Amino acid sequence: MLRLYNTLTRREEPFAPLRDNTVRMYACGPTVYARAHIGNFRTFVCVDVLRRTLKYLCGHAMHEAVNYTDVEDKTIAGALKAGQSLREFTDPWIAAFREDSAQLGIEAPEETPRATDLDNLTAMGELVLALEKNGHTYRRDGSVYFRIASLPDYGKLARLDHAGMKDGARVDVDEYGKDDPRDFVLWKASKPGEPSWDAGAGPGRPGWHLECSAMALRLFGGPLDIHAGGIDLIFPHHENEIAQSEGATKQPFARVWVHVEHLFVENEKMSKSLGNDFRVADIIARGHRASALRYLLLSSHYRKQLNFTWAGMDQAEESLRRIVDCLARLEDVSGGTGGRGINGRGGGPSSPPGPPEPPPSGVGGPSTARGATIGASIDTAQRMFREALECDLNTAAALAAVFDLVRDVNAAIDAKQIDRDEADAVRAAMSGFDQVLGVVSLRRAEDARPPVPVDEIERLIEERKTARQQRDFAAADRIRHELADRGILLEDNAGGTRWKRK
Ligand code: AMP
Ligand code: ZN
Repeated sequence: MLRLYNTLTRREEPFAPLRDNTVRMYACGPTVYARAHIGNFRTFVCVDVLRRTLKYLCGHAMHEAVNYTDVEDKTIAGALKAGQSLREFTDPWIAAFREDSAQLGIEAPEETPRATDLDNLTAMGELVLALEKNGHTYRRDGSVYFRIASLPDYGKLARLDHAGMKDGARVDVDEYGKDDPRDFVLWKASKPGEPSWDAGAGPGRPGWHLECSAMALRLFGGPLDIHAGGIDLIFPHHENEIAQSEGATKQPFARVWVHVEHLFVENEKMSKSLGNDFRVADIIARGHRASALRYLLLSSHYRKQLNFTWAGMDQAEESLRRIVDCLARLEDVSGGTGGRGINGRGGGPSSPPGPPEPPPSGVGGPSTARGATIGASIDTAQRMFREALECDLNTAAALAAVFDLVRDVNAAIDAKQIDRDEADAVRAAMSGFDQVLGVVSLRRAEDARPPVPVDEIERLIEERKTARQQRDFAAADRIRHELADRGILLEDNAGGTRWKRK
């Protein structure tokens, strides 16, 4: 059974969804004012591994929401600066996030609510009114605040005591004159030039914390099974989400809180404000593939900090290549004739001469002995893989199980001691592992896609044709070389120019 570390209890606990077989999970999504960096994507890739583990390893149905925070200080400032409406400004960042997520093989969640969707704004207004009714709020200059002193167990997630918080708490940037610096804003009075809605709490806009509570309650109704996010969100964001949701509904908000540790660069947290951030496109521009980046981001345990280095990227490429190479060798075995695998292909015309087949050994004949060996390796790897993930998503140990199998399989192929059925069984086991890891399928999709978009190749072929007609051979050559550098070769023949991958 899956065990997950719950930040709320500070313990690993067995996990099962509360109602039917469906896991209701909410993960705080990106603030859509810029392109997300790979630190953000560490969190989203780890949440995806959690989702895939619940779905494919544990057999649960998923109902997952990842929101887009499209109204808060940074999106408003960005839209103002660009002279655009909030939607015009945030739409391309949402598209960019979806594109990067797809490149990283992140499965699309069932729900991707935007804070500024009308249904969500309505839910936010209703939440403020419910909190007001329950005596948790006060108003100042048109804004509505949450009064922390009204909720005795405030601080239970971050384990803050009320007295200590006064000094240490991060004070909300929008100060409108609060009763207590720890209090936080639920609904901000409208300011000139800022977007404003009237959802029942007066003209204004939602506070960031309110958005997630309202969207999660609207989509899931009762308690969430899992609420996830990066570790920096524990306080104040998640603490405040609990206060708002539980203050309004008087029901527990989320049962299990999962927090992903940060991605670091040279011992500093990767963040846009520090200027040490890389985007997915930066990694690809350095010649890496998104599949290797996904591999890197999931390869260490999600509750440990991970330091990003280019050497680490190289290692991730190498590790992924080992898995892919092993699968390619297995394909050769599976593609052979009869049950004798690569030995069975020995007589084929194109096969290189190989060493003579080793004599059968062991009691019960060769196939039984071989079957037991590879079969046992598969069983062990499957057991270790499952146990590792069930132990609070220990992806590092899960990958170690995969590599044990790769080593055994490579040795069996070298010794020509694997037949087609065994090869098929290994490939089936590997594809089971990859349902959770999602790296091999991603690499295959990358391989199937040319490194330059087909439209662009065709346009460049046309440009080159025109250059040649105009006898500008230097320009024509430049196009050919540029494409070759990007992995596309051009071949001229009587019928015109064709392209192929390098
Ligand atoms: P934001 O777009 O800033 O709201 O962040 C989106 C998600 O990325 C949140 O869950 C953050 O906690 C997470 N996050 C931000 N920086 C990092 C980092 N360096 N490593 C891992 N996760 C991060
Ligand atoms: Zn949130």
